[in-house]
Order: sequence, then C-alpha cells, then structure tokens
Amino acid sequence: MAQKVTVFNFGTCAKCFDATLLLPADNGYELKRALEPSKWVPSPIDVAVITGYLLPKDKVLVEKIAKNAKLVIAFGSCAATGGPFGLACARGTKVTPARDMVEAIDVHGCVGEWFELHQVIKGNQPDRAKLCDACKRRSTCKFLSEVVRQIDPSQDDESCFNDRGFMCNGYVARQCKEKCIDVATPCRACKPLVDHPGIRMLSMFGTLMANVEVGTEATGGIAGTDKLADAPDDVTRSVPDVSGAFFRFSLPVEMPIGKLPSTGSILSDVFTGRPLEELPLLAGMLGGRRAISMVLDIIEAYENGTGIEINDIVKGYRNKLREIEAQMQSVTKAGDAAWYGSAADAIRKIAGNMNLSNIFFGGFKTPIKDEQAPFDEYKSKIIEFKKGTYQAGRVKYAIDAEGKVNEFSWRP
Ligand code: SF4
Ligand code: SF4
Repeated sequence: MAQKVTVFNFGTCAKCFDATLLLPADNGYELKRALEPSKWVPSPIDVAVITGYLLPKDKVLVEKIAKNAKLVIAFGSCAATGGPFGLACARGTKVTPARDMVEAIDVHGCVGEWFELHQVIKGNQPDRAKLCDACKRRSTCKFLSEVVRQIDPSQDDESCFNDRGFMCNGYVARQCKEKCIDVATPCRACKPLVDHPGIRMLSMFGTLMANVEVGTEATGGIAGTDKLADAPDDVTRSVPDVSGAFFRFSLPVEMPIGKLPSTGSILSDVFTGRPLEELPLLAGMLGGRRAISMVLDIIEAYENGTGIEINDIVKGYRNKLREIEAQMQSVTKAGDAAWYGSAADAIRKIAGNMNLSNIFFGGFKTPIKDEQAPFDEYKSKIIEFKKGTYQAGRVKYAIDAEGKVNEFSWRP
C-alpha cells in the first residue's frame, strides 16, 4: 500500500509548503496538503511534513500530528531551526524548532529542496557535500586587511568573498539549489554542514580579521595592548549585526532567548537591528508569496527617498516579477504544480533564485540571461547610508546614520 504523506503549513511564508508542489506525481506515496493545520482531521499517516516556523502555541497541534504519524520531517529552515524568523528570539519570541517539540528529522534549506524531502520520505539521506566545493570562488583563508559590508558588482572577481573581507558562511554550509553565491551574494548558511554553524563561523571570521584594527582606549582607535575602547572601530563598523550575519538560520538552536523588548510584531522583531544592505536578501528569504513586493518595496522606498534613479530595463524586470507574484497568490493556494514550476523558473531567471538574491538597490547584481543590454546599464549600486524614514508600498522603516534599521513595519 502507498505511504500516506501529509504536508502541514505552519507560520508563513509558505515558500517551503509551496515547494512541495514540485514533488514528483509518480512518487509512490499518497500526498495530501494541509494549508490550515488547525482544520486537519486526525487520522493515521506514515509521514508528517512540517513546514513554516513554530511558536509555543503550536506545540499541542504538532504533538497531535506526531502521535498520528510514523515519521515527522521538519522541512525547510523555519521548521528545522526557526529560520530567519528565529532572529525574533533576540526580542523574547520563542520561535521553536520542531525537534524541540517532537522527534523529527530535519531537512534544512531556505527554500527547502523538494528532492531532498523526497529522498528522506523514501528513507535515504541527502547529500552532505560542502558548499565551498561547488563555488567558483576559491578561498585562501588569508588574514584580511579590511572588512566590507557591500561589494561593487562591477569590481567583482572570482576570489572568495571572505578573502575580500565580505563575510560569507560558505565554510559551514552544505551545497544547495538556490546558490546565493552564484549571484554575488554571500551565503548565510541555511543548510548547515556542522553543529553550531554560527559560533564556528564567528570564530573563523574572527580569526581572519586578526589584522583588522580594533580600537583601544589609550591609543584612541589605533590597535594597542590596553583596554578595548567602547567607541566603534573597524571591526564593529564592518560587522554591525553579528546575530543576523552569523546566526540568521540558527539563533534559536545556538543562543538563549534574548531580552530586548519586542516591537509587538514578529516581522518587525526580525528586521529591527539589521543593516540596510541585508534587508533585500532577508525579505527574499522570509517573504514567501509576498517576497517580491516586500523586497521591491524596501528597495524602492530607499531609492525614492535618496534619489537613486533606475532605468526602464530595471523597471521592466521589476514589473515582470510583480506580475508573477500577483498570480502566485491564487494559483499556489489552488495547488497548481505546473504553473508554480514555470513561475519559479521565471523568477529564478531574473532574480537569481527563490531568495531573490540578484535584486538590489539600483538594479541587479549579476547579468540576466538573454538580456541584450550591457550589464553596466542595469547593474546594482553600492549604497551610502542616510539617516531617515523611508516608505513605499506596504513597507515603512527608519535607519540610523550607520544604516541600521531601528523601526520596521509591513502592512499585510
Ligand atoms: S566561503 Fe563563500 S565565497 Fe568563499 S569559497 Fe566558500 S562559498 Fe565560495
Ligand atoms: S548559498 Fe544561499 S541557499 Fe545556499 S546554503 Fe547559503 S544561504 Fe542557503
């Protein structure tokens, strides 16, 4: 008899839930999808697939699901580790990995990869190859002379991001389908290769930074052997957000719950404190069916507010992406796998991957396939930080003079 598999959609963004539409039709199991898990009528199943982030209030339902299933799989970063929503733990929200509620097998990834889920349902293990081995860049692990927050797409070469002082978590990540690194975007390790990836990467990057100047008190900002200064130095300026850079996918599994006050919204808790240049990728990772408009609203709010101009090529691609997103709402709910597959391919062609890593302020980070215009005409820009409040579409946020977000709101 065919295995009974049910996929459950918990805290949105629904990207991993939607990715299960791509599971092969002739998979040998009977697949059901529970868009609203609270309406699920309990019945014995072989495999329960949990997608989305979990909060303590979900525990009773997750336990009920587990009691009725022979195997529970936490599919995607949010179910496995809290994913980027786990950053809200810094502000006291207990985003909880599935394995802290029930016995579960983790299938990491942002977005979760359907073929790995398929392998695990069939009782096989996904590949554990290192991301760096699949990267065209080559790491030398030389000490850095500086750390940078952005790289100029026109100056990009094939050296390792870390060698250029641009922090990449590839050292602690497994190979993946989305490959942010192929679209000039450093890895944030949604598919960890090791336990405690954040701590290990922090140690690794700290070692590489041995040559970077640390301000000390008596020398007034020049390295010395006296007490470290409280004023920002080259290190603190360059890595303004340790949680978001090193623990984007692992805060709930590596750190105790934080004590910063909550803003009252999980999305605002996640975005507040992050550096502006990380916002597009972060929104691409957690925005799900609304990721495209969230990324573009964030970008256009700053472009409009600071006078960054974009041309018709960039506008055309952004319109195309918005059109796909508008259709996505109804089609994914209806479970149209063929449509979802071709829409995902169209998104990947322009935006690089389902995390939308290729979209940035002013344009795109890498050339778009089949585009005739020279890349120079639609490439993204390095941004300078201008303190202020920015608003476009559904998004409103404020940044300080260092480009750190101190307020964020999104109107659903
Ligand atoms: S650390 Fe990042 S940029 Fe460097 S080789 Fe690994 S994946 Fe590539
Ligand atoms: S490159 Fe992107 S998709 Fe791949 S492991 Fe890193 S963060 Fe995840």
